[in-house]
Amino acid sequence: MTEKKEKNNPNKKLEEKLFYKKESAWTDFADSEHKKIFDFAFNYKTFLSESKTERLCIENIIKILEKAGFKNIENLKSVKKGDKGYKVFKGKTLTAFVAGEKMDEFRLIGSHVDSPRLDLKPSPLYQNSELALLKSHYYGGIKKFHWVNTPLELHGVAFTKSGKTVEIHIGDKESDPKFIIPDLLPHLAKEQMKKEGSKIIEGEELNIICGHIPLRDKDIKEKIKFTILKHLNDTHGLIEEDFAFAELEFVPAQKSIDIGFDRGLVGGYGQDDRVCVYTSLMALTETKNPKHTAVAYFSDKEETGSNGDTGAESFSLVNFTFDYIKLAGLDILPWKILERSKAISADVTTAMDPTFSSVNDPQNVSYLGKGVSIEKYGGGGGKYSTNDAHAEYMQFLRNIADKNSIPWQTGEMGKIDIGGGGTIAMFMSRFGMDCVDAGPCVLGMHSTCEVTSKADIYSAHLLYKAFFTE
Ligand code: MN
Ligand code: MN
Repeated sequence: MTEKKEKNNPNKKLEEKLFYKKESAWTDFADSEHKKIFDFAFNYKTFLSESKTERLCIENIIKILEKAGFKNIENLKSVKKGDKGYKVFKGKTLTAFVAGEKMDEFRLIGSHVDSPRLDLKPSPLYQNSELALLKSHYYGGIKKFHWVNTPLELHGVAFTKSGKTVEIHIGDKESDPKFIIPDLLPHLAKEQMKKEGSKIIEGEELNIICGHIPLRDKDIKEKIKFTILKHLNDTHGLIEEDFAFAELEFVPAQKSIDIGFDRGLVGGYGQDDRVCVYTSLMALTETKNPKHTAVAYFSDKEETGSNGDTGAESFSLVNFTFDYIKLAGLDILPWKILERSKAISADVTTAMDPTFSSVNDPQNVSYLGKGVSIEKYGGGGGKYSTNDAHAEYMQFLRNIADKNSIPWQTGEMGKIDIGGGGTIAMFMSRFGMDCVDAGPCVLGMHSTCEVTSKADIYSAHLLYKAFFTE
């Protein structure tokens, strides 16, 4: 058929109307938008590089909120329409809000501030083969072999015996020393390479090199361990026993970077889920006079099942709502507000990887650069561990995206029965609120350098912003 004939073919027009087809968001966005996409990603990369642990992430959220005029609710006597506040809990979870016209209903976006990492064991330090090493215990779902030969930095908090708080940050500055777990050389790895993937590096092999120079004193037995303990005592006032009462976390010592000749992608550690933390946080700070109270919830412990007092399974959302009701002078129970609210579980999903395409159904997976991914359900198997959003609510979300010309796509987390993954959606929906997962898709999720598309990051930000004012 010639081009002209094709144009006049009525079925071509009908095809356009009937078929579900998603083009690249890069072409959906006008060229004039591209500068905004890159500027937004530039600031996001800075945030990501400086927010490598849950505590650091919360600290940086507070900085951004304070700068935007949000007040700690401990310093608020009341809350009225248009007021901006936040509640931080144990330095690991935070809920921020902009009070709306209708104060007894939320538009709530929840994300998580924790990412897979290497924590230290209670008694980690030992000396062997002219080295001092630290035994670690991995946190969250990792492929352990990713963490060898990768320079690491250390963040955390410890206490001296007398009770002084000691913050530790070593390796995040260019001039700082780093830490490393060396892998076995290929020359001697014949037996190792026969092992199944999950055992190529085992949990007990994640031992981090932290020192090398011995003390010159023949009366001391563990001379390298001695120099390390003395160093920690000189610089931070700590003794070996203090490790057992500390939270010390090793994360990749690498700043977020642009990927590709055209710089269209972001590479960085902890994008699951700090990409949603940043995009929803910025959306909240840009929200003025919302119809309903806009709430951004930043939870902890998602990577280990959302348990504990700072995880989304806790009562932290209820407790926040209780405090908010008191300040707002409302006559309603917290459960009732949460029940009538609408929510997005802002979390990442998998992107189609052309090299490992067999794990996904090509027509039910998200693709990098096709916009924010709205997923009805996650979980695994026969839709276990998911809230499975209602069709009515999916329509509500589509309407927001279409009305605001926000590029969106949809997908599933892998082929059926091949695996899966949960989010905090099921914990938020327990209260009765509608909730659906929406966020950018990621390549190399849970690795030391995850990859996202700048167009998807921007699309997610636009969706969250539009949702807050609905
Ligand atoms: Mn996540
Ligand atoms: Mn995750």
